[in-house]
Amino acid sequence: AFGADTVPQAPEDPLFGLMAAFKNDQDPKKVDLGIGAYRDDNAKPWVLPVVKQADERLRADPELNHEYLPIAGLADFTSASQKLILGKSSPAVQEKRVISLQSVSGTGALHLGAGFLAKFYNPQNAEAKAIYVSSPTWANHNQIFANSKLPVKNYPYFSKQTKGLDFDGMTSTIQSAPEGSVVLLHACAHNPTGVDPTQDQWKKIAEIMKQKKHFPFFDCAYQGFASGSLSRDAWAINYFVEQGFELMIAQSYAKNFGLYGERAGCFHFVGAPSPSAQEEVTRVGSQLAILQRSEISNPPAYGARIASMILNDDQLFAQWEEDLRTMSGRIIEMRKSLQSKLEQRGTPGTWNHITDQIGMFSFTGLNEQQVQKLREKFHVYMTKNGRISMAGLNTNNVDYFAQAVDSVVR
Ligand code: PMP
Repeated sequence: AFGADTVPQAPEDPLFGLMAAFKNDQDPKKVDLGIGAYRDDNAKPWVLPVVKQADERLRADPELNHEYLPIAGLADFTSASQKLILGKSSPAVQEKRVISLQSVSGTGALHLGAGFLAKFYNPQNAEAKAIYVSSPTWANHNQIFANSKLPVKNYPYFSKQTKGLDFDGMTSTIQSAPEGSVVLLHACAHNPTGVDPTQDQWKKIAEIMKQKKHFPFFDCAYQGFASGSLSRDAWAINYFVEQGFELMIAQSYAKNFGLYGERAGCFHFVGAPSPSAQEEVTRVGSQLAILQRSEISNPPAYGARIASMILNDDQLFAQWEEDLRTMSGRIIEMRKSLQSKLEQRGTPGTWNHITDQIGMFSFTGLNEQQVQKLREKFHVYMTKNGRISMAGLNTNNVDYFAQAVDSVVR
């Protein structure tokens, strides 16, 4: 019933394929710059000390069981998540115009939002029912939205010349999109480019989106990871909320808590300030609950319990902020080190973008052949678009990597 004409062989997921190839490589010098997961200076996964502490407390609890969570998830977790992303004294939270559901990490939150938009978003102009994503974007965005039958369109984002933001391209496309379109925005630490708009640029983007009545959907997978400051990394979202937008947020705790496999995340719908906002978000929430029930029934508990314990305890929260600074600080050090090693070698090209870009990734500007050569000759693994995960660099391999890059660009 399922011949190759109806079910063609799908290509392997590029990132997970890369991971497997790295694992099979026996060369001791091999370097993994593929997957976006934090590594310590010994290239090992890092369990955040605060997570270890919360986990131990959790395990010691004799009341701990494996019952189902409610459909919307752990209430202490979702309310703390609102405060984390919107601020402790957020008027939107105080006015009860935010509805939040715990999700299967960031991917699940995006999927829930996509399902909701596909089913209920009815802009005046049917053409507006497309979601605009940056070009390039995290590859999974395209398939998450396409699977939910939301047409995906692109806005330019990255300038090959400056290796920075193509602000004119981005804003002119958003400006000319049909009124009421959905626009997906990376809240901070854009994946894959590491390039974020400045605060002034965000203001301009908000102005255009307001004028065009576009609907913002923020993807926030790196809060605290980009600058090391939780509030600074949520600045753009909070600016849009202050501007009175109705919007959605997909919040992931994979990177900032290192809870990758535990799938802890949250979806938020923020209503615009109005006398009927509370009634509106209650209705929206009732439909989100049905979507959630049909997709996952109820979210996974363990990671959310860990995150919730940390988010709701002042002392643990302070330690978490310290751990975030450890991770973001190490990455910033690696950026500096890589840039200076390339410049010291006189490697052709400019390398300031390595430290201008932020977050986990850097878009190096290396082309597909150079990436291929790095892999074949130097056992360095990275995606073919030239993206490197900065977390894969450390004091033991950064020199080797700089030398390899130098060799392939000459
Ligand atoms: N959005 C972006 C831009 C990401 O980079 C990621 C993680 N790679 C996610 C969402 C979600 O990841 P997760 O489902 O693991 O939270």
